[in-house]
Amino acid sequence: MSLPPLVEPAAELTVDEVRRYSRHLIIPDVGMAGQKRLKNAKVLCVGAGGLGSPALMYLAAAGVGTLGIIDFDVVDESNLQRQIIHGQSDVGRLKAESAAASVREINPLVEVVIHNTALTTENVMEIFSGYDLIVDGTDNFATRYMVNDAAVLLGKPYVWGSIYRFDGQASVFWAEHGPCYRCLYPEPPPPGMVPSCAEGGVLGVLCASIGSIQVNEAIKLLTGIGDPLVGRLMIYDALEMKYRDVKVRKDPECVLCGKNPTVTKLLEDYEAFCGAISDEAAQAASGSTITAQELKAMQDNGDKIFLVDVREPNEYEIVSIPGATLIPKGEFLNGSALEKLPQDKRIVLHCKSGARSAEALAVVKSAGFSDAVHVGGGVLSWVKTVDPSLPSY
Ligand SMILES: [Zn+2]
Repeated sequence: MSLPPLVEPAAELTVDEVRRYSRHLIIPDVGMAGQKRLKNAKVLCVGAGGLGSPALMYLAAAGVGTLGIIDFDVVDESNLQRQIIHGQSDVGRLKAESAAASVREINPLVEVVIHNTALTTENVMEIFSGYDLIVDGTDNFATRYMVNDAAVLLGKPYVWGSIYRFDGQASVFWAEHGPCYRCLYPEPPPPGMVPSCAEGGVLGVLCASIGSIQVNEAIKLLTGIGDPLVGRLMIYDALEMKYRDVKVRKDPECVLCGKNPTVTKLLEDYEAFCGAISDEAAQAASGSTITAQELKAMQDNGDKIFLVDVREPNEYEIVSIPGATLIPKGEFLNGSALEKLPQDKRIVLHCKSGARSAEALAVVKSAGFSDAVHVGGGVLSWVKTVDPSLPSY
């Protein structure tokens, strides 16, 4: 399926632009007309992280005239393994600012628009409406559904990508010509079922593999060349070194882009839709959450506690709270962890950030350990408030 170009060509290219983009200009399919379309294009990249880094750098180098960058976060040392648009001296700097500086260095002819804010239901429609195309580099389900819904409601195409460990996926969602993200994933996964990259890790170079597919598709859509990834899901396995693509059909019953849509405006709360933690976990954690400093005080007092780290072994290896016993969350969900818990000590659970330990806490409490608690903020909070000499990840 070929689609018409998304953008009208700019009036002309300057002498500098002709020199800079000559390797594009001599490709017959791109040529002068294609490069003029890129010059006229306005592309927004949601997130200047793992996928956003290579995406922004190649979009800039390709000569996309206006590049929007939206990110509210600051550069952390643990980002540098994959977020190559930022460097060592950018640690602590706003990602949108740092990314904009790199874009200007790669191509000063690009107009950069910095959106130094979180994407929210209040601003997403207004921000998206200023662009021809969105590149989605977000890493969480709540933002993904919001990006999809806003794009469909505005009739805009977007290029989606996702990465985890050695696996990547990409597609183009454009309700006018094919399915949307909800056609492929009608429901968010149950809370706690799909680990984030922060929990599960990601091979740095995978970001380039998927980010470059996203830019490739963006350029094709903007210039109207080739066969876009509309209605197809690209699946990449870096360990096997295999790409395959599967057909994704538009769901006639899709609540957003189907025949009788029931979602006709943005949801009020995407976090709630995706349920940051399950109801059971939230209930278990309510009134049974301690701070990292309270845990430290319990240990210093010599309280009879049994501290359990519910993360995965490789996370435990990176950093762990002194005295913690490792029992991964999966063992709580299948019940095998319970026989490892002493009856004469108070059970204290923790994970990286507090989400997984809340899930495990629900299991432990319903097994009768009624005074069990978990540590809000997990290891991250311990490192921040109790022992900053430990590494964070
Ligand atoms: Zn749909």
